[in-house]
Amino acid sequence: MEILTMIKLFLIKEKKRICENCQKECLAILYCEYCIRNYLKENLSNWISENNKNNNIDDLIQECQMESLTSSKVVEWIPYSNLQNINYLTKGGCSKIYIADWIGGSYYKWNSEEQQLERYGTHEVILKRLKNVKSRALISSVQFSICQN
Ligand SMILES: [Zn+2]
Repeated sequence: MEILTMIKLFLIKEKKRICENCQKECLAILYCEYCIRNYLKENLSNWISENNKNNNIDDLIQECQMESLTSSKVVEWIPYSNLQNINYLTKGGCSKIYIADWIGGSYYKWNSEEQQLERYGTHEVILKRLKNVKSRALISSVQFSICQN
């Protein structure tokens, strides 16, 4: 193990604290990643993708949610009805790119008093419409999008 990696692990270990709500050892100061995951787990039944024939998408989203570390980086399913004012922007690579308003917006903050995630509010997002893309290219595109956020 590299010295730098060992130092990082040591520092991360030193920064852990005990959550006053769930009593687990968490990393963050302003929220608890375990409380966020519990909240997401409790709300799993409140959404389902529109692709009922393939539960893999739902399973993948749920898996990603159970790995969430911050309130502003939660992977979730967005129903099409929550996207409005969709306008074509340009064509890029194997996709068409649109801009739209995401009604309600993404999660951004943990409310520790209410023990729930709060949404940012309606904001603009970029949409990619992929055509004839094999699954490996789609996964790369999704990973790229997640890294860019
Ligand atoms: Zn907690």
